Formats: sequence, structure tokens, C-alpha cells
Amino acid sequence: MDWFLSLFNIILVLVFYEVFHGILYYKSREVKREGRISVRVLNINEENAVTLNSIFFRNTIVFLSNKIDEKILTHEEGHTKQFNYIYAFLIAVAALLSISTLLAIPAILVGKFLLWKMERDADLYAYTKYNIKYESVAERPKSKIDRIKAWVFDTHPPDWVREKEEYYEKKISLIKLFIQDLTS
Ligand SMILES: [Zn+2]
Repeated sequence: MDWFLSLFNIILVLVFYEVFHGILYYKSREVKREGRISVRVLNINEENAVTLNSIFFRNTIVFLSNKIDEKILTHEEGHTKQFNYIYAFLIAVAALLSISTLLAIPAILVGKFLLWKMERDADLYAYTKYNIKYESVAERPKSKIDRIKAWVFDTHPPDWVREKEEYYEKKISLIKLFIQDLTS
């Protein structure tokens, strides 16, 4: 293990992550406070929001359009309460990558799973605390390939899965929902 390289990689991840969240923080303006959470707007006409959950920027939700969607807000509030698994994981991968770059392959799979988990946990938070389920007009694609693409490339589990009853039953694992979605 090359300690110097590991340290360098860790610093790289920390700097990128903190700077990215710092830009979102300083470019946005606060529109309201909910307890200790700062709700901010950075209008780029994107109907979405990002929760800042890094070392220096926490308890902050940045909406990417002027419209503060209360449903999205409950989901994001869930993120503010979470341990940031993906950040911790990126740091761990940065440290271990000097052993073998091949580690990047399983790391992508684990990282993807952690992202799904964090997104679903935030959805479950909104559901258990505010009884809000995700709603969407998107239809489930008939083609299996299109469904796989949505699972792989979207930051959240696909819309048609986030709407399902089973998705809000904590006991049913995401892996199971994933397999079900691909095989049915
Ligand atoms: Zn989310």
C-alpha cells in the first residue's frame, strides 16, 4: 500500500466534495429555515433539490428551481438526518485504490447500492414521518433494457418502483425489488 498516494487520493475526494457543496451553498440564497435546516434556492430551472451533507456544509437543502416543492422537501429532510454513506465510502475507496485500481470495479457496484439505499431511506423517512409517497407520471418501460438503464443511470431507484406499495415496506429489500422489476 502506497500511503502517500492514499493520502493524496483522500485529500482529492475531500476537496472535490467540499468545494462542490461549498459552491452550491454560496451560489444559493436562503429562502427559509425549518428548525436547524436552511432551505436555499439556486435557480437553474431544474425541478430537483440537493441536500448538503458534507463536513463543512450540513443541514442545508438547495432547490435547483424557484419552486419549493413540499414533497421533495420531506425527502430531502430525510437526507439531512442520514449518515452520508456515499461520502464515507468514496473516502474509503480513495484510500484503498492504491492497492489495486481493479478495486474500482466492485466499488462502483457497492457505491451504486449505497446510493439506492440512501435514496430509499429518504423516501421511507418522508413516508413514515409525513405519509408522503413519491408520485410520478412516468410509465414503466416495456423493454427490459430501458428498465435496467433507469436503475443504473438514475440517482434514485426508478420512478415506477418508487410509487409501488412494496417500496414503502421496509422489510422488502431493494435488491428484491430490483430483481422483481427485471424479471416480471
Ligand atoms: Zn434523494
